[in-house]
Amino acid sequence: VTTWFADLAWTGDPDIGVETGVVIETNGQHITKVAPGVSVVPPGARRLAGLTVPGLANAHSHAFHRALRGRTQLAGAGDFWSWRELMYLVAGSLEPDTYYDLARACYAEMALAGITAVGEFHYLHHQKGGVPYADPNAMGRGLMAAAQEAGIRITLLDTCYLRGGFGEPQLDPVQVRFSDGDVDRWALRVAALADGSAASRPTCRIGAAIHSVRAVPEPAITAVADWAAAEDAPLHMHVSEQPGENRDCLAATGRTPTALLAAGGALGRRGTAVHATHVNAADIDALGSSRTAVCFCPTTERDLADGIGPARLLVDAGAVLCLGSDSHAQIDLFEEARAVELDERLATGRRGNLDPHRLMAAAAAGGAASLGWDAGRLEPGRLADFTTIDLQHSVRLAGAGSDPATAVAHAVFAATAGDVAHVVVGGEVIVENGRHVRVHDVPQALATALAALAP
Ligand SMILES: [Zn+2]
Repeated sequence: VTTWFADLAWTGDPDIGVETGVVIETNGQHITKVAPGVSVVPPGARRLAGLTVPGLANAHSHAFHRALRGRTQLAGAGDFWSWRELMYLVAGSLEPDTYYDLARACYAEMALAGITAVGEFHYLHHQKGGVPYADPNAMGRGLMAAAQEAGIRITLLDTCYLRGGFGEPQLDPVQVRFSDGDVDRWALRVAALADGSAASRPTCRIGAAIHSVRAVPEPAITAVADWAAAEDAPLHMHVSEQPGENRDCLAATGRTPTALLAAGGALGRRGTAVHATHVNAADIDALGSSRTAVCFCPTTERDLADGIGPARLLVDAGAVLCLGSDSHAQIDLFEEARAVELDERLATGRRGNLDPHRLMAAAAAGGAASLGWDAGRLEPGRLADFTTIDLQHSVRLAGAGSDPATAVAHAVFAATAGDVAHVVVGGEVIVENGRHVRVHDVPQALATALAALAP
């Protein structure tokens, strides 16, 4: 049993504020006791100075996009589709060893940002030319090993990707690396992945993903949804990130992407719609009434000029909000959380659409639920994943600790990833005083991994 003492802690319940002097006991992977209002640090307790919150969950990641940061900003005028050409250049160059190195460093960057779980939306499965590796899951296993080394949980969302687009059965030379040929072969490969040793680790689990309605035909949407239901596994899908996707889907099927996914059985409590940027009133009702999660990725959505999704309407309809750094233009879930609200203000002309505690809950419990982890709350029985934000040495957060009523609001609206002091995953310290305890030089690890990919 380990005893921790948090000066200030928010347990993750949006209706309960920050408490002072919170003793947390953990045993192995789990929290066994949470007691607020303790005035003396218990002997032998590990001190968590600052504001401790449930571990943040990054519900949407493509680890290899970390190689694009900065590089895509020089391309001048362009849109999502021209950005995708640059992204495909990186995708075309990766091999299991270079991808492992990049993912390990990228996940270590996430750990430093207070992220304790990642949802890796993984579609880079096969060799150049589309031939499977000797182990057809070499890439997926590498990603799980990378997360393990970086000390964070991973839900590997193994992604089905079968065609170039509506009416485009052919894949382009990069996209052939993404495809298993048909959905039955996708399911066989994922079954082999789930049987592997990595998947039995307490910090790894397997989920499924439908890349998009462009890339997965209707019968395969149903097959992937059925697989996820049979396995009780998380099911993620890109939905309506771009108006062009909606137009093509309507022209080809007479339905919106959300309606098509609903008809295929892909919505519901285990489902997460990523982006949901361009959704109409019927789509919002379908996502909300089915209690589907919606994963907003505002730093990516603004980087790619996608647009602003209707966060408040989706939440009011019943959808569960979670957050992702997606293309890793930045890795900072505080920025993602405040961007949801600040973008909504620009779009509506109103302030205070989503309160700070609900935004922090989206970054923690919302993401944990989307990824299938019993985390996101500091309470007995939950996984012992938590993050401590330094309030004493951060110039941005100076004074935030003096008023527990506004401490979470300070964190959501002013903290950065660099303000994270301590990160604990499954009762184990991963980041201490802002330093990763396993990957000792994360910037160097990133630089080395990125240099190996330089064109
Ligand atoms: Zn994505």
